[in-house]
Amino acid sequence: MEHFMNVEQYQFIKKQAKKIASAYSNTKDEGVIQALQALVMESINEKIVELDEESLAILKPIVTIQTKEQLEDFIRKIKVYVTPFDKLTEKELKKLFPKDKKLKVPDLKNIDWTEISYLSWLDSGTNRKYIVYRNDNGIKSIRGIFSQSSKKGICAICNQHQTVGMFMSSKKGRAVGTYVKRGNYICVDSTVCNENLSDFKRLIDFIETINE
Ligand SMILES: [Zn+2]
Repeated sequence: MEHFMNVEQYQFIKKQAKKIASAYSNTKDEGVIQALQALVMESINEKIVELDEESLAILKPIVTIQTKEQLEDFIRKIKVYVTPFDKLTEKELKKLFPKDKKLKVPDLKNIDWTEISYLSWLDSGTNRKYIVYRNDNGIKSIRGIFSQSSKKGICAICNQHQTVGMFMSSKKGRAVGTYVKRGNYICVDSTVCNENLSDFKRLIDFIETINE
């Protein structure tokens, strides 16, 4: 079986599938539905370039999704074609944060690696939030102090209106003994954030801005 989607593309397609299903429940106007169907197929072709005939045939039923059951069924069927986030071990995670001698890592067995573009967890004892992702050069990681809140706002990673908290990272400044702090608002719930993240570049931009 060919994995023709990465997680970010899969999340994008799920969003499109939900759009179609909600259109069917909101309108009886054939013209509106047809226009949306065309738009969705076009956006999928833009998102996953060089989609071959076989893969396209797997995704095409998206335009016929009308019910919640059909939506779930479609998502289940396409999920097997997703290249998951390349699993990390506890040992690998500990190596990424050598300064944290007592690093608490999440329960890796409970993670659905086909649903995440990045791995993140919060140590509620220290309020440290950890973010790990992969790019072409390997594993990247960042940690920061996270101020939880119940406030709603736009997340700097997924760009959606969600419950957000301030992620603040500090690093040594140019002058000895100085620190530069940089932060931004991101989702409190990284599972939700990953589901919303259909543009991986936003995550990279967020990390680069923090690390600048
Ligand atoms: Zn988010």
